[in-house]
Amino acid sequence: MGDACHKINPSGGHGAVTAMHDAITLANLIYSMPTKTSEDITAIFKEYQEERYPAVMESFKNSQVMSKVTSRGITGAVVLFLATRMPMWLWRIMLAKTVRFRPQVGFLPNIPLQGSVVPVVSPSEQKARALFNRQQHAAASI
Ligand SMILES: Cc1cc2nc3c(=O)[nH]c(=O)nc-3n(C[C@H](O)[C@H](O)[C@H](O)COP(=O)(O)OP(=O)(O)OC[C@H]3O[C@@H](n4cnc5c(N)ncnc54)[C@H](O)[C@@H]3O)c2cc1C
Repeated sequence: MGDACHKINPSGGHGAVTAMHDAITLANLIYSMPTKTSEDITAIFKEYQEERYPAVMESFKNSQVMSKVTSRGITGAVVLFLATRMPMWLWRIMLAKTVRFRPQVGFLPNIPLQGSVVPVVSPSEQKARALFNRQQHAAASI
C-alpha cells in the first residue's frame, strides 16, 4: 500500500491521504476476515485491490494534472494560465472527484457525514461496520 504500490506526484498533495485510506481499507478487511486461512488472505487482497484501484487512479490522474500546473516551461505556463482562470464550479467538480473516496474505520464508532461531497460507498467499511455492530450488540446483551 501507499507509495510502495502507487507513486503519486507530490504536487497533487494526495499521496499520504491515499496511503492512509489504503491502510484503513486493509484494516477493515483484516478485521472482518471470517478465518485466517491463506484462501481468505488471498481473497481480501483481491477485494482490497478492487476497492482501492478507482480511488488511486483518481489521485494519480489528478496529480498528473497538478504536476503540469507546477512544471516550468511553456506547458506549465499554459496550464497555469488556464487553471487560474478556471471557474470555481469546475474546480469544485475536480476536487469532489478526489475527496469522494474516504473510507472510515468500520470497527470504531461512525463519524457522521460532514461537508457537501457524499463519500463513495466503501464495501470494506460496510463489512467491518456490520461485524462491529453485531459484536457491540452481543456485548450489550450479556
Ligand atoms: C515534497 C513532498 C510533498 C508532499 N506533500 C503531500 C501533501 O501535501 N499531501 C499528501 O497527502 N501527500 C504529500 N506527499 C506524499 C506523501 O509524503 C507520501 O505519499 C506518503 O509519505 C507515502 O507514505 P508511505 O507510508 O506509503 O511511504 P513513506 O512515507 O515513504 O514510508 C516508507 C517508510 O519505509 C521505510 N523503509 C524503506 N525501505 C525500508 C526497509 N527495507 N526496511 C525498513 N524500512 C524501510 C522508509 O524509510 C520510510 O520511513 C508529499 C511528498 C513529497 C515528497
